[in-house]
Amino acid sequence: MFNSLYGMFSNDMGIDLGTANTLVYVKGQGIVLCEPSVVAVQSGTGKVLAVGQEAKRMLGRTPGDIVAIRPMKDGVIADFETVEKMIRYFFTKVHKRKTLVRPRVVIGVPSGITEVEKRAVRESAEQAGAREIFIIEEGLAAAIGADIPISEPAGHMVIDIGGGTTEIAVISLGGMVVSDSIRVAGDEFDEAIIKYMRSNYNLVIGERMAEEVKFRLGNAFPEKKTDSMELKGRDSITGLPKTLEMDSSEVRKALAEPVKEIVDGIKLALAKTPPELASDISDRGIVLTGGGSLLKGFDKHISKETGVPVILAENPLTCVVMGAGKFLEEMKHLYRVNLK
Ligand code: ADP
Ligand code: MG
Repeated sequence: MFNSLYGMFSNDMGIDLGTANTLVYVKGQGIVLCEPSVVAVQSGTGKVLAVGQEAKRMLGRTPGDIVAIRPMKDGVIADFETVEKMIRYFFTKVHKRKTLVRPRVVIGVPSGITEVEKRAVRESAEQAGAREIFIIEEGLAAAIGADIPISEPAGHMVIDIGGGTTEIAVISLGGMVVSDSIRVAGDEFDEAIIKYMRSNYNLVIGERMAEEVKFRLGNAFPEKKTDSMELKGRDSITGLPKTLEMDSSEVRKALAEPVKEIVDGIKLALAKTPPELASDISDRGIVLTGGGSLLKGFDKHISKETGVPVILAENPLTCVVMGAGKFLEEMKHLYRVNLK
């Protein structure tokens, strides 16, 4: 009774604490925040100078005494204090203490994080003013957000390809049957492009340029039409600025290694899946979510490699936060889902 009254007045939230982006959903309002999971701190003092968009702009451009950190980069929390500061910043930005009632919060985290790390996330949210906190694995949240009927007695496979990690989940009856987290995702695509340019053309490019190349030319499956663009960087031998033309078929070659690692991870998860559920999955198809799944032709490539149909979710970047939000609203009905 009291809880439902509370629910009417508080801004209950769903949070996707991603390795690349943090999103916040507020009950009744939808997605109210979407910012990079980046914090800029002053080295030495540890003072936070900027968080989110503003801090991302500083990546790779900071003077000696400022460091821009992605505290969730590899799906593990490298630095608790920074994560806490980041959560607090996003939390207060959204909440603004408009109501007297403290919110209930559902937080989606990579499945690779440890119990200790989960506790740290929980404590940070508590410190930031949450009344009740539920931690949910991203794979499960992604499935709920992609409108997959997870409570059915049938197998579903959801693959969330983010920045730092790829989460592979096989779900049946509201529970995780297989849950794997591999540390290869969108960031590794950028790194592969950087490495390829350096070793084949002595061209040094930055992370932002590499991501731009990935957006415009990146692909995992041959297409009839090849695109190309000019890449600007520095010659690693002469040290002088250098420009080079690059085309999409070559970018596919540059991305082959991390693409293969993700596909191998999927094959491994399929091999671990009980046969009945595997057969459900081959009927229904694998669902892809997360920003990394937007790499052109990745769905086709995974389908070709596994022999299973692959469906790209409608809004891959918002599935996890929508799932966390929906979870808040339907908590009572989703009772079978294991909460941590
Ligand atoms: P996380 O959940 O780990 O925070 P996201 O799901 O937000 O990650 O996805 C971020 C990743 O998706 C980044 O590596 C980004 O470069 C990549 N990404 C976003 N849009 C595209 C796109 N159109 N093509 C390829 N990669 C993309
Ligand atoms: Mg994510």
